[in-house]
Amino acid sequence: MNFVIFSLGSNMGNRLAYLNLAIKGLENQLGDLLIKSNVFETEAWGNKAQTSFLNQVVVFQTNKKPEACLNILQSIEKEQQRKRNEHWGPRTLDIDILFFNQEIINTHRLIIPHPFLEKRLFVLLPLSQILADFVHPKLQKNILQLLQECKDNTQVEKHINGI
Ligand code: AMP
Repeated sequence: MNFVIFSLGSNMGNRLAYLNLAIKGLENQLGDLLIKSNVFETEAWGNKAQTSFLNQVVVFQTNKKPEACLNILQSIEKEQQRKRNEHWGPRTLDIDILFFNQEIINTHRLIIPHPFLEKRLFVLLPLSQILADFVHPKLQKNILQLLQECKDNTQVEKHINGI
């Protein structure tokens, strides 16, 4: 059995509904939801003129391999008609694989652990809520340490309805 940790984000339309649709889609196609963080509201990253993001981290148990997980998350994103034409632009739904067990993967389609996760407060804050002791297999530091060392000063706050 594999443990896969996803980051979810949305900054278009009914953002909370998109996060919940992502979780439902993963439950239907990928495996069992083990833990979910609170939903956090994050000022738009890379393009401050946009609506803020809602972000959440979820942990699933699955018998699928990493490539199969990527195929599933991409089909869920596509279903929600994510607009891919603007880099850093608005997104109905963005799903990334942060970790897959303790594996380090570098292929043309997949980089795991997700690159730059240690630089992003909107990933580290929800992660620290549910997996503070989890060790980043490449950096060999746990999530709490990465959070303490993170220089990102983007505003990230708990979202009131996303408990
Ligand atoms: P993005 O625009 O951030 O959703 O990136 C999508 C692209 O990133 C896809 O072509 C994926 O193949 C690639 N990718 C590489 N590593 C990952 C990962 N850990 N999780 C999700 N997508 C990834």
